Amino acid sequence: MGHVPESRKARSAEAARFEVFLRSRKLKLTGERLAVLASIFQRESHFDAETLHAHLRTAGGNISRATVYRTLDLLVQSGLVRKNSLGASHANYEAAQGDEHHDHLICLNCSQVVEFYRPDIENLQEQICAAHGFKLIHHSLQIFGLCPGCTGQADEGTIRNRVAQLHT
Ligand SMILES: [Zn+2]
Ligand SMILES: [Zn+2]
Repeated sequence: MGHVPESRKARSAEAARFEVFLRSRKLKLTGERLAVLASIFQRESHFDAETLHAHLRTAGGNISRATVYRTLDLLVQSGLVRKNSLGASHANYEAAQGDEHHDHLICLNCSQVVEFYRPDIENLQEQICAAHGFKLIHHSLQIFGLCPGCTGQADEGTIRNRVAQLHT
């Protein structure tokens, strides 16, 4: 088996979709944009731009912070990446896996994020929209609390302070 270069491995279905999107904006799928995409789809969790930038730098790239932010914006616009606040003042991101939708539980102590999907909650939201004559286009449900490991461990004052400063 020969050595497969990183850039070749990353030419996935996501890369093809991103390339089509970029072309529609008269932009190219550069090596740096591809590296950002590959890094996101390799890790499959919630992350922020700074963490992603640090990751790419550690991986040996010389990519600038500005390029990471611009590429993230493009990925969000293309629908390949979703943007959430998860309570933070800065944006968090995650790879969008097809049409899959989920909501989030966020631990106020350790910042652990748990994904869930409940059809009954989804239905209820549709009913609420219908009752108000709203066409549902997007929703984001974030529940903040303490994970099993942090229940009883977290300092109450700290947690109260975090709740007061949540960005939702
Ligand atoms: Zn926790
Ligand atoms: Zn998620």
